[in-house]
Amino acid sequence: MTDHLLGKRVDVLDKGWIELIDLLPHPATGISGDLAIVNAARVSFMGESKGDEKDKKLLFYLLRNAHTSPFEMVEFKFRVRAPLVTWWQWVRHRTWNFNAQSGRYTPFEENDFYIPDVWRKQAASNKQASEGQVEPEVNAALTDKLKEHYNEGHRLYEEALQAGVSKEMARLFLPGFSVYYTWVAKVDAHNLMQFLRLRMASDAQYEIRVYAQAIYESFFKPALPWTAEAFDLYGLKKAE
Ligand SMILES: Cc1cc2nc3c(=O)[nH]c(=O)nc-3n(C[C@H](O)[C@H](O)[C@H](O)COP(=O)(O)OP(=O)(O)OC[C@H]3O[C@@H](n4cnc5c(N)ncnc54)[C@H](O)[C@@H]3O)c2cc1C
Repeated sequence: MTDHLLGKRVDVLDKGWIELIDLLPHPATGISGDLAIVNAARVSFMGESKGDEKDKKLLFYLLRNAHTSPFEMVEFKFRVRAPLVTWWQWVRHRTWNFNAQSGRYTPFEENDFYIPDVWRKQAASNKQASEGQVEPEVNAALTDKLKEHYNEGHRLYEEALQAGVSKEMARLFLPGFSVYYTWVAKVDAHNLMQFLRLRMASDAQYEIRVYAQAIYESFFKPALPWTAEAFDLYGLKKAE
């Protein structure tokens, strides 16, 4: 069933990852997430599972008609390592629960910084977005400069720590948007679909889109195959 998903970790970006640390219903119950949704819906009229075909049909009906509360009966808890530029956008989704690594407590290492593969150009039509990429030689030069910037920022951070400055203040020297943080993040399936709809869309920033896509492909689809199928049909498209 879904027990192989617990503890599964997928790599994202250059140094990030997503790991599923808990799932409701827990795989040990033997109840699939899709069935938990159907069972929750049937409690409305005190019914039970009526076999795969009818259960799946009911689930599709629920999603198609925005009968959303049964989808809140399934929960995913992830441990996620992502750069701050990703978290900056992720935490806007208020229906998630988070607990973050403390930069006041844990020191940052030299290689705790995001290095993009490519430098995307400013999009012509959307002031918030990017498109294409710079020429390869410009790409390489920018990456070298970024690494220099990180090294200098981290050197100053270490210098401040050596001078007795607290971790909570020394981190002011770190390049803010690039530093990787590890968080625990929990969400139910209904609100996860809202997150996926917005953050897998083409106008979402690449640095969060890859996390949304990884969650969808590696965890959401295998944990909730019927729901994923219905979501592809009725729920994936972002409202215009
Ligand atoms: C492409 C893109 C660009 C963006 N650009 C910007 C930007 O420039 N500036 C900026 O500030 N943000 C920006 N955002 C963030 C965006 O405005 C939302 O804050 C974010 O996507 C979270 O969406 P949400 O509120 O639907 O999610 P959640 O907070 O997870 O909420 C899910 C749903 O629950 C309901 N809900 C939750 N909390 C409340 C509440 N307190 N009151 C009423 N209903 C609630 C709403 O129906 C909501 O849709 C951008 C998002 C995207 C995808």
